[in-house]
Amino acid sequence: MPARSGRGILERLKSGVVLGAEGYVFELERRGYIKAGPYVPEVVLDFPDALRELHREFLRAGADVMVALTYYAHRGKLKDVGRENDLEAMNRQAVRLANEVAREGDALVAGDICNTWAYDPKNKEASSRVVRAMYEEQLSWAVDEGIDFVIAETNDYLGEALIALQVIKELGLPAMVTLASTRPHQTWDGYDYVDACKILADQGADIVGLNCDRGPATMMPILEQVRRRVSGYVAVQPVPYKTEPAMPTFESLKTADGTNVFPIALEPFLCTRFEMADYARRAQALGINYIGICCGGGPQYVRAMAEALGRTVPASRYSPAIELHPMIGAKVEEKEKEFLVDWKG
Ligand SMILES: [Zn+2]
Repeated sequence: MPARSGRGILERLKSGVVLGAEGYVFELERRGYIKAGPYVPEVVLDFPDALRELHREFLRAGADVMVALTYYAHRGKLKDVGRENDLEAMNRQAVRLANEVAREGDALVAGDICNTWAYDPKNKEASSRVVRAMYEEQLSWAVDEGIDFVIAETNDYLGEALIALQVIKELGLPAMVTLASTRPHQTWDGYDYVDACKILADQGADIVGLNCDRGPATMMPILEQVRRRVSGYVAVQPVPYKTEPAMPTFESLKTADGTNVFPIALEPFLCTRFEMADYARRAQALGINYIGICCGGGPQYVRAMAEALGRTVPASRYSPAIELHPMIGAKVEEKEKEFLVDWKG
């Protein structure tokens, strides 16, 4: 087992791209361990082996960071599913599992906080207190169990993101703060996404950017602008879906007959691993520092992204060798490829 290098997130970013990997909630939902709808990570307590395994798969695929699965493990959401009493145990266990697997390689552990659905700009003072209390309790347990930095993600409101940033900074930890981008140009409290990233960076966020909602095609144009505006580290974590200008987010994707596919019929819109590898290369060329993936992400994408960034990772041992395929491989005679008939012909 390799010993951890002891290099923190900022040190790693200084020397090159950090590869992130998320999408735990969607992947574990697909595997039957999380309920779609509430999306509370009950798997942390109910099936820790399932979560441990997914962490390990991301680690083998080259992820530099094990993100503790505390997304939606806050008081508000646990109340919704009647598990408020499990709040502390769930948060602690999530960080413990991330640490356990991170130490099987040289990965960092990130604590994770997110949009709470409690923030209300019309009732800013009172709702901010509620949000702050949720972040403080989650992160106090995370710090206690051991984390290297904190990711505050999927922030619909800049106001809520700033509360997260403040709480992280009070703990003296590096902060990565990323915004959701469900609307065309602005956060839910009316800040242009690029301006909002700049404000977060100016307020002391070490890494800023966007995560979730948009696929690479519609997220990268915003990130190009963020890169130009922000001198510090920039993060991008899109969803691996084929969003386009007419349907810029995965929430807005529709089939040809107009049926909404979010969140559990998204498969027809999945990107291929090659498309995600291309995105990773483009992001690197643009000077993005933290390159990752969000909901819909899986180890096959992360490995392809790692290899696109020039890395050989543990799972590369089993990377494709299609030339050895018995039906379409290089040694198969053209006449033997009859199964590749044009079915329309
Ligand atoms: Zn996501």
